[in-house]
Amino acid sequence: MLKLDFIGGSWLRIKNFDVYNNIVCISEKSVIEEYDPIYYYNNPIPPDIINEILGDSVNTQQYIFIHNLFLSLDYKNTEQLLRWIERFGTLNRFAKDDSEDDYISPSTEPLFDELPENLINEDGELLNPSLKPVSSLIEFKEEISIMKFIVNAVNIIKNKYQGIEAFTNDYLSNVELIETLYYYGFFDFLYEKVPNLPSASFSPDVSTYDKIQTELPNANYVKDIEPIFNAFRRCKLRNFAKIASKQLGNQFLDQIVECFFSIKLSAISPEIKINNGKISFNFSNNSLIGLIYFFLSLDIAGDIIPRKCSAKGCNRHFIPTREDAIYCSDTCKNRAKQQRHRDKKKRTIR
Ligand SMILES: [Zn+2]
Repeated sequence: MLKLDFIGGSWLRIKNFDVYNNIVCISEKSVIEEYDPIYYYNNPIPPDIINEILGDSVNTQQYIFIHNLFLSLDYKNTEQLLRWIERFGTLNRFAKDDSEDDYISPSTEPLFDELPENLINEDGELLNPSLKPVSSLIEFKEEISIMKFIVNAVNIIKNKYQGIEAFTNDYLSNVELIETLYYYGFFDFLYEKVPNLPSASFSPDVSTYDKIQTELPNANYVKDIEPIFNAFRRCKLRNFAKIASKQLGNQFLDQIVECFFSIKLSAISPEIKINNGKISFNFSNNSLIGLIYFFLSLDIAGDIIPRKCSAKGCNRHFIPTREDAIYCSDTCKNRAKQQRHRDKKKRTIR
């Protein structure tokens, strides 16, 4: 394993935060601690921390690092995400503002387009100014499911595209996923790479919007028509994805993977720092999810591909030490064996 001499590697974990309508907020009672995320790439995460976050007691023999643990989260299990935030913090940076001695978003853009109604007054200002929204659980969940999807794609690529048909069909029937890929810029990326694809423009016709607004100056009408536009756009996106996947064949998967890694890796800016003759590798500290993708990139480029555990109900991803390993642990292996035994018994009784 590559040991990185990494400086300025501080990230923030939060104790005592509140969640309102899926928005994580910090307040005066919150305790914010710094830690170094790269430590959990250079050193495996201790089993007790893994079990604490995942909330199970699987006896893991495999080494799990921070990116594998993120990948092992179940996005439907909010408790797991909250425990992750306590231990490893939010996925994007909120920083200390020295002038106010306070934690805020470092970006000039607001963290959220729209805050939940019960947090703001009529003017859109926070009801409780000491409450700072720092992260959205919805986005957190999206990040987990996207990364699972990407790693699944990587596994298929490494398996010489075995199973690509089922994977693509699955993908094409998942409108939500197509929408997410669209928002992440995958379709623009695809269009740049493959010039002979049909038009990649999906925004509703602007002149149609204008026409509706000038002819019928009724805001509600525009609101009513919005879902129709959305449905239309989704349908168009799906068709585009279908055509693209057909035209590109196996390469479609390559493009998805390439696009996501380039988007995610662009969130971190690697740099070299020199201090008194000591040379260190550093990142601008903007994105834990960017770092997680960076660790994953180092792994997959080094032919270390995380694999999903085959045991029913286990969400864990592990690094296979043997080509034919399908379970994350002996716990899961035994559980699956017992399950097979029970299934066999059932069949015999019938
Ligand atoms: Zn397992």
